[in-house]
Amino acid sequence: MADIQYPISGSCQCGNVRYQLLSPPLKVMACHCKECQKLSTSAFSLTALVATDTVVFEGELVQWERLAESGNKNYAKFCPVCGNRIYHFNPDQPEVIKLKAANLTDTSILKPEAHIWVSQKQAWFHIPDDVPQFDKQP
Ligand SMILES: [Zn+2]
Ligand SMILES: [Zn+2]
Repeated sequence: MADIQYPISGSCQCGNVRYQLLSPPLKVMACHCKECQKLSTSAFSLTALVATDTVVFEGELVQWERLAESGNKNYAKFCPVCGNRIYHFNPDQPEVIKLKAANLTDTSILKPEAHIWVSQKQAWFHIPDDVPQFDKQP
């Protein structure tokens, strides 16, 4: 990923929420859980785990809170106008956020390094052999 220029900008579908990602993600994952299928309206969601101080947000975000199966808090931030999911976070781990980074202008950074919740994966989707996969949350 040496030739990628930071910052990379992103925005929700309507443009009400904009953000800048200042440096590379710590990790990129594809999550196949049913919750992610709902939120992405697709077979899986792409999550970039990033240090909280490497993203700058602009515009109003609203919050929805739920508990993960593990009991961890999984809070979601989304655009109140178009509903596009922007990021997830756990208030007990304020140093990182899970950016729903498919709305970046350069999505070439979003190649998953791991596939998680493969136990709920759509049968037709085949994970490349060289990428680690986990039945649930590793
Ligand atoms: Zn929006
Ligand atoms: Zn998930």
